[in-house]
Amino acid sequence: MIAITGATGQLGSATINFLINKGVNPSEITALVRSKEKAQDLKSKGVNLKVGNYSDHGSLVNAFKNTNKLLLISSNEMETRSQQHTNAINAAKKAGVKHIFYTSIQRKTDSPDSPLKMVLDSHLVTENAIKASGMKHTFLRNNLYMENLLWILGQNVLENGIFYPANEGRVAYATRSNMAEAAANILMDDSMDKSEYNISNSHSISFQEVADYLSELSGIKVPYISPDVETYKTTLTGAGVPAFAVNMLAGFAISAQAGELMAGYSDLPKILKREPTSYKDFLKALFAKAKS
Ligand code: NDP
Repeated sequence: MIAITGATGQLGSATINFLINKGVNPSEITALVRSKEKAQDLKSKGVNLKVGNYSDHGSLVNAFKNTNKLLLISSNEMETRSQQHTNAINAAKKAGVKHIFYTSIQRKTDSPDSPLKMVLDSHLVTENAIKASGMKHTFLRNNLYMENLLWILGQNVLENGIFYPANEGRVAYATRSNMAEAAANILMDDSMDKSEYNISNSHSISFQEVADYLSELSGIKVPYISPDVETYKTTLTGAGVPAFAVNMLAGFAISAQAGELMAGYSDLPKILKREPTSYKDFLKALFAKAKS
């Protein structure tokens, strides 16, 4: 049995769809969900539903019974997720899970001074708890979703240009779909049992490249402006963006500048057996959709 947490989330549901489309019997998949109503699509496919919550140990132990492989998808509740993940790991151990897979983050350093600190700290707590549990483990060190570019570009990018304090920094964004497919491939293939995989694109993009490609697609000159970080934060705050999102976006920009999110090496092409979706194909599809 393969169990997947966050199964009604975007990555979890996409991973389950890839598993089924690649031939895993839905009856061999358990989905941990918070709401059965939200999971009607999974239910209609024949996936086993278990209602549970990362903060409810008993519900997790029950959900993870008879599980060989557990994909623990990191929680989106940033304040409490270290404890939530620790609960899930303890429950997995108690339920007898054989192999735990965890969606962590790609980075160059584990230093407490890392510019990725705002997300990295809880990933480190989780990775360390998994190692200490003694369960066989695999960390999927995911880079940033290419879909995050949408937050950065905004809806009026062709008129306003790109405003993001990353300077020349580069990020090896990969699509969420590529990451979900990679997770499915790893879960299905017992020979893919390394303790960590770097899930990044082959090419790390700069924001100037994105601006240039948007200019090429639209025929409109799209400028890239890299303000200083404080100006960026003040501008977003003034526009009503919540502090949490401002700090996250700024933190990723500083991380890009520091090269934290560049793909030194990526396992993704090997796992997918093809090149990951490029930023050009991603933007081209977005542009075509916006025009239609
Ligand atoms: P989503 O927000 O779509 O999904 C998060 C999932 O976590 C949801 O299914 C949610 O349940 C579940 N969840 C949250 N809190 C709990 C809880 N207390 N108990 C049980 N389940 C819970 O995110 P994605 O699928 O897109 O991404 C997966 C994870 O990747 C995110 O949670 C986040 O940690 C991380 N992430 C990575 C990014 C990147 O660029 N690499 C960007 C953004 C996030 P429910 O469906 O009921 O809401």
